[in-house]
Amino acid sequence: MPPPKVRDKFLVFGSPAIEEPEIREVVDTLRSGWLGTGPKVRRFEEAFREYVGCGQAIAMNSCTAGLHLALDVLGIRPGDEVITTPLTFAATGNVIIHRGARPVFVDVERDTMNIDPAEIEGAITERTRAIIPVHMAGRPCEMDRIVEVAEAHGLYVIEDAAHAIEAWYKGKKIGNVGHVTAFSFYVTKNVCTGEGGMLTTNNDVWADEIRIKSLHGVSKDAWKRYSTEGFQPYEVLYPGYKYNMMDIQAALGIHQLSRVEQNLGIREQYWEMYDRAFGDISEITTPSKRLPPGSRHARHLYTILLDIDRLGMTRNQFVEAMKNEKIGTGVHFIPLHLHKYYREILGHRKGDFPNAEWIGERTVSLSLSPKLTVNDVSDVISAVSRVLHST
Ligand SMILES: *Cc1c(COP(=O)(O)O)cnc(C)c1O
Repeated sequence: MPPPKVRDKFLVFGSPAIEEPEIREVVDTLRSGWLGTGPKVRRFEEAFREYVGCGQAIAMNSCTAGLHLALDVLGIRPGDEVITTPLTFAATGNVIIHRGARPVFVDVERDTMNIDPAEIEGAITERTRAIIPVHMAGRPCEMDRIVEVAEAHGLYVIEDAAHAIEAWYKGKKIGNVGHVTAFSFYVTKNVCTGEGGMLTTNNDVWADEIRIKSLHGVSKDAWKRYSTEGFQPYEVLYPGYKYNMMDIQAALGIHQLSRVEQNLGIREQYWEMYDRAFGDISEITTPSKRLPPGSRHARHLYTILLDIDRLGMTRNQFVEAMKNEKIGTGVHFIPLHLHKYYREILGHRKGDFPNAEWIGERTVSLSLSPKLTVNDVSDVISAVSRVLHST
């Protein structure tokens, strides 16, 4: 008989911790009759704005929508180039393409997995308009150096903070550093609204345009046109998008956000458990501890790097073996320049960004959701050591 699995029930990677308060709030929203963009979205935006300590927060129906809209409002258009990291999710590159612009990748640092600030300058041309740094796994990028090079060349900085809701950089809350910052509330992210996102900025003019363009481009507060305030004539000011958040989503977000620091504390505890368990295993590299003073890692993904040569096992075989132990894991990310579309459109191939590729072949994300119990985390640790010893 084969040895028993670590678990009977499959541990889903990154499943969200949904609690009673948001369940009641969603039901209240459904009963209220106002499901679309309305008072709860405004409440959520205000709570998020306060949490970040920024001037403006505008809710979106996804982070992807927010990134696209930020590029639109900042005037990124066909022929422009936007610098970003290859070690990211498809959305970061796709939105650049949606503007008719060209993504220009800059390799990452092996230890932080973030865009290498020293390499950015060399990628700038007369067509470059913006940089999109991604705070990988929740670790803030070296924003001082990124902002410095951006200022020297008159570039916008749009932060992809999908992983980094709780992150700080040198005494500044992320969401307050670049020109516009985009956050995600997708199911696996640190605050979950099912689908959802938020843009933050300290520029009121951009914020107004973002708000208008997120709802068809019709003049301000068009969502009130069916409210008690009576018919308000509106005008189409831009060919806008349908990127607005619904009150049903905000109902989740309001209560998820109220537990954001508490949930971070739980993930910090699990992070330490993983660090302790894997610190002395030579086939595993644990996440770098390097962080500038006054900074905070948002602890979104606990990513280990496998010594695949020593193990004689590929990362995909490792993921499969973990699945056999009934433990779900994640891969963040297969570098974007190696995907079919990006290979073909940009002419990239293997070898172009060696650090991103090195990570891409070795990285595995272990579940870090606050929904996990300490026993669940112990199961993940047991499964990793069983898989390592099976080779
Ligand atoms: C999840 C994610 C996004 C997209 O977020 P959505 O809210 O799903 O649109 C963008 N960038 C990164 C790095 C992500 O992980």
